[in-house]
Parts: sequence; C-alpha cells; structure tokens
Amino acid sequence: MKTAIVQVAVPGPFYQAFDYLQPSDWVEAPTLGARVLVTVRNKECVGIVVGFAEISHVPVAKLKWLLKTLDPEPLFDAPQRQFITWLAEYYHAPLGDLYYLALPIRLREGHAADSQAITVMRLTHKGRELLPEQLHRSLAQTALWTYLQSMPMGMPKRQLSALNHSAAALRALVQKGLVELLEQVPPIPVSQLTAALEANTAQQVAIDQTCAVLGQYHAFMLFGVTGSGKTEVYLQIITQVLARGEQALVLVPEIGLTPQTVARFTDRFGGVVLALHSGLSDKERLEAWLAAKTGRVQVLIGTRSALLVPFKALGLIIVDEEHDGSYKQQDGIRYNARDGAIVRAYQQHIPVILGSATPSLETWLNVVKGRYQVLRLPNRTLDAKPPAMHLIDLRSQPWANGLSTVLIEAMREQLSLGNQVLLFLNRRGFSSSLLCHSCGWSPHCSRCDSAFTCHTEPKKLACHHCGYETKWRYSCKVCDHPLTPMGTGTQRLSETLSQLFPDVPLQRIDRDSTKHKGSFDVMLAKIHQGQAQILVGTQMLAKGHHFPNVTLVGILQADSGLYSADFRAPERLAQLIVQVAGRAGRAEKTGAVYIQTLWPDHSMLQQLLKGGYEAFVEAALPERERACLPPYRFVALFGAEAKIDKRALDFLIRVREQLSLRAIHGLHLLGPVPAFKEKRAGYYRAQLWLQSKDRRVLSLALEHIQRYLTAHAKEARTVRCFIDIDPYQMD
Ligand code: ADP
Ligand code: ZN
Ligand code: ZN
Repeated sequence: MKTAIVQVAVPGPFYQAFDYLQPSDWVEAPTLGARVLVTVRNKECVGIVVGFAEISHVPVAKLKWLLKTLDPEPLFDAPQRQFITWLAEYYHAPLGDLYYLALPIRLREGHAADSQAITVMRLTHKGRELLPEQLHRSLAQTALWTYLQSMPMGMPKRQLSALNHSAAALRALVQKGLVELLEQVPPIPVSQLTAALEANTAQQVAIDQTCAVLGQYHAFMLFGVTGSGKTEVYLQIITQVLARGEQALVLVPEIGLTPQTVARFTDRFGGVVLALHSGLSDKERLEAWLAAKTGRVQVLIGTRSALLVPFKALGLIIVDEEHDGSYKQQDGIRYNARDGAIVRAYQQHIPVILGSATPSLETWLNVVKGRYQVLRLPNRTLDAKPPAMHLIDLRSQPWANGLSTVLIEAMREQLSLGNQVLLFLNRRGFSSSLLCHSCGWSPHCSRCDSAFTCHTEPKKLACHHCGYETKWRYSCKVCDHPLTPMGTGTQRLSETLSQLFPDVPLQRIDRDSTKHKGSFDVMLAKIHQGQAQILVGTQMLAKGHHFPNVTLVGILQADSGLYSADFRAPERLAQLIVQVAGRAGRAEKTGAVYIQTLWPDHSMLQQLLKGGYEAFVEAALPERERACLPPYRFVALFGAEAKIDKRALDFLIRVREQLSLRAIHGLHLLGPVPAFKEKRAGYYRAQLWLQSKDRRVLSLALEHIQRYLTAHAKEARTVRCFIDIDPYQMD
C-alpha cells in the first residue's frame, strides 16, 4: 500500500514544508489550503496543508503522524496560496511564517473558522401559504413550521436545539422549499448613503481608464496633488467594481486609517464596508477575515497586513499614499505591501491603482518604463490654489528654540486674521539631549550608545531607539555642572509658542500626545471646529488630513533630509514638504509654506520650489542611476546582530568570503559595515549589501547564504540574522 505523505507548512525558521503521514483510518485526505494539527519538535501546532507526495526524503520511521484536520474546506484557495508562496520566495521568508501572517490569531490558535455571522431560518412564500394538514405526517416538521409562523423575521438557526426543534425537520423543510436559510451579516449601522460627486474631466478620464480594464491586470499610478479628488476617483471606480459583484481592497498607510477615512467609504457604500484596524479584538479580526473570504464584505480598508486577507472575488486593489514607508514592514517578515499588491493583482488578473501626490521613485520609473499607466489629476478641486512656497535662510536670521523671526511675524499676521497655522517638526519630546557646557558630558542610553531625548510631560529621559526611560538629570555626572537642554522638540516648541502667543489656543499632535486611544480623533475634531489655532505636530500631521482654515505651514527642520547617509532621505524630505504643504489653504483660502533651512541653495529645495514634485523626480532619477542605486539596481541587505562587539561584523566577513568564492556573475557586494546606528537595544549590528541589476542574481546569492547558515547553525546561533529585500530605511 502506498503511504500518503502530506506536506505541511508550519511556523518557525523552516524554509521547507514538513512531511507528515496521514493515519490510514482517515477516510479522506485533508484538503490543500486547510489547517491541520501536527507536532513540531514535540509541540502541537497548527500548520497549513501545501502539498501531497507519495514518498518522502525523510525515512518513514522518522515521520510523524497528522493529528487532526481542522478545516473541512480550504482556508486558502489556489490563487491565495500562489500569492503566499510568491511572498515567501521573494522575501526569502519561511512559508509557514507567511501563512501565519495571513491568519487571524484565533485561527493560528486552532479555533474553528466559523463565522459569527448568524444563519437565519425563515419561511418562504410557499411555506407561509402552506396549510398545516399538508405536513401532518411529521410532528417535528409541523412543530418547527408552526413556530416559524410566529416569527416573520425568522429565527437564528443556532437556537434550534435550545428550542428543542429537530435539525432533520429543518433539513426536510428546506428541501421542500418551505424554509430558507439566510446568512445575515451582523448589522452594521448604515449612515446616509451619499451620492457620487460629478467628476471633473481629469477624474472622469481616470475613472474610465480604470473601469475599461476591470477583470484584467493593469497597474496605474494615480498622480494627483493633495485635494485633487483622488478619493472621489476611488469611490466611483469601486462603485463599478461592486456592480460586477466583485470586492475591492483599499490599503492605506498606518496613520491614514482614521474614522474620517472609513466614514468617506461608509457614507458612499454603507454596510458593505469594513475596516481592519488595530482596535479590533481577535474575534472581530476573525470575523472581518471571514467576511472578506465569504464575500459578505465588499470593500475592505486596512493597513499593509490587509493585503494577505483572502477574498471571495477580489476585483480591484487600491494602494493610497503609495509612497508611504509604512507599507514596508521593518522587522520580522520584511515585506512591502505596495509591491505585493502589484503581484497579487497580476496573479488574480485585476487592476491595481497606486495613488499619491508624491509617488515613490520606484513607481515613477515603472511609469517611465511603460509598466504602469499614469493617470493625472493636475488641479485641486473647487479652484483651490496651490500654496506659495518660501525658503527662510536661517544663516541670516535670528532664531530661538527653532523659530526664526520671519516665521514668527508671518504667523502673527495669519493668526490675527483668525486663520490656523501648522508647524511641522519631526522630533517629539522637549529637546534632543542634555549637555554639560563645562565638560561636554551628556546622558546616554548605554544599550544604544545614543543620547537620551528629554521629555517634560512627564519629566523623564527616553531613548527613542529602544524605548528605555529613566529619570531626568539636573547636573553633570562627571563635574556636577548644571545640564542644558539642546535642540528643540515638539514639547519645547509648544512651550515657546505659548509664551509668544499666550492667548492663542494650541494643539500638539505627536505620538506622546495621542497615546490614549481615540485622543487623535478628538484633537482632529478640535482642530476642525477651530478650537485650536496653532497646530504643532510631527509626521502624524503630514498625512491625509484636510485643514481648510490652515493658511500657513511652517517646516522647521528640513535639513536633516538634505545630508543624510540614507540615499532615500532626500526623496522622503521632498515628499514630506509637498505633503505638509498640501495641508494648507484647501478651500477658498490660499496658503503659504515656509521652509526654514541652513541650505537655501540646495538643489533639491530649489527644484521643489521652482518645478514642484515632478521637477524633483526628474532630477533625482538620473542621480540614482548614476549612483547605481534603486530603482535602477536591486538591493538586498543581509543583516546580523550580536551582543558581543564585532561578532556580527566578523560573521558577515565570513559570509562575504563564502559568497566571493562562488563568483556569482553580476553580483556586487558592499561591506560588511557596522549599521548606521551600530548599537541598539544591547546589540551590535552590521550589514552586508548585495546589489545587482538582476533580481535573480540576488536571489541566488541569498540562497547560498541560507545554505551557509544551515551548515553553520552552531556558529550562527550567537548572531541574529535577517534578510531585507528592497530595504526601505537604512538605520
Ligand atoms: P484627495 O484624495 O486627492 O486628497 P479628495 O478626494 O479628498 O482629494 O477631494 C478633496 C475635496 O474635493 C473633498 O472635499 C472632495 O469632496 C472634493 N471633491 C472631490 N472631487 C470633487 C468633484 N468632482 N466635485 C466637487 N468636489 C469634489
Ligand atoms: Zn560636566
Ligand atoms: Zn536605547
């Protein structure tokens, strides 16, 4: 007799599925894409069936048995499995870990994939018209039928046994067409369904172009300035997707998933919209996952992990603010949901839209190369004018606590007119460090080798790299001299502003001030009602929010992005400036943007000012090409970290030697070098850069590395390694 081998993907650092034996008394084989219970290293765990085989490379005596089948039906259909397999191969990540990433926690724990959505049983028209004597032969059926007569709205099926009715009777009544079973979505409050706006010409072109390719793969870059009506375009395209009986997935950046965003979709589509946000309980997440899988939900809005949700009939993927860094996961499985969205759309033969006012250079190059089609929304709706941009040369300006006199005067004018002012500063806390002016000592986090940031609410020192916190210090540890705060964070800026403008209400928005759940939304509401006139904020204020009464935007510290070791820093700065500028003067009020800098002649700032984001891109792309950087080259980073100094670096030197022996054609190696931030949270970190024009070359090299790691597992145990494909942030 042939022994059936079932291949199961299990979580953990395993690059291949494990083989298990199917007990011979099992009548049926478990289905592909369903969960099974297995043992891994003597522990029970949930795995996913990914294949079958007749023989195993492992001796039969060593093989373990499957313990249990958990799903009668596959949780992952073939396209979904194909997509997850692609992710695992492309990102060199363990297959089982990817399946776990795609599973709600409840399903990882082995709970049933049962929908909480209730099945309702109700009499059909024929059933209501029936005369009782027609059922005379079955008491059980008559009893149920009589009961349902008194329940015109129907009754949940799960109450059947509680009310002592028989399941067989129900089946019989359904078979006779007297009773129907309805899947009832847990009721979601439906707000007023608003009508579509009348699209302007550019919007209509974008809508028509996309709708012309529904049902086939096509990638679009929707390039529209802030306020140009991108969201309206999404809504109208989704209307047509839903009309085809298909579903839409809308990915938004981490801070973009606000009640306001969700409200714009629910206002249009009502109860078929669902948001996958961090506030959901495990049960609710499971519910949302199942709702998408069974098609009960038609529009799913979520952050990057929503890309892995299964759909019954996915018809469109939208990636809003596609340039946003939060689409790239920076730890664990370092995948990029924007790039994954393209592949998923390709595999499922559906269109995908990448929308942004400031598209990434990667996406832009894909347009240049003809892989993506560009759709432009060049103008703001409602005739709102783009803001005027000014550079403030800090070299010729008195400034204190981050504010130049020019900016203070410009603020004074706008505030006196009753307008709102937004100041952007990408550093939270009070000051960037404390310094002893006598001997130069400053308090450092010993786990990260970097200065503590000072916070005043409450008063403490915090490490922004590892999260460690300690008491505020007043005097120098070395010479006892009093310590002075250096640099300005949002807390100090707010304090300075309250002294300068004591009567003007101020709202600070950063990760500290919005720590409590819901507080961000309260603050946004306050701003919209005009209860705050000065807004001070970090990144959080730069995205997606419309502040029609803001007429002045100040960017206080642009310079760190101009001269950074990270080649993407200028791109991020350009995006930030354009995005923050887009917050200003959205309605009838025209806005002005002031950028404080020590480098007013820097070419990037000049390009942005004179030609806008597009001019920046046109200058930045050739620069990347000359420097052999992405998007013209593919990069993978092999990182290592160890608790002992130099160990990670030494380990990478050996990895590099191994790779050099292979002499892989077209592969360029850089490093290993210590990471930019060499020590973090007690670990010394180093990285090796792999670069090539050809992705397959990188893939090949990484496979060699993985083989080397497996062969030298003992040595590798004292270092933690990771692979980062298309790394986004160098830190
Ligand atoms: P974006 O997503 O590009 O920032 P939005 O879709 O939020 O732009 O549109 C900005 C504002 O313009 C919103 O208040 C929206 O209601 C309005 N708007 C969008 N399209 C139209 C249109 N065709 N006619 C009138 N108003 C529009
Ligand atoms: Zn000192
Ligand atoms: Zn630290």
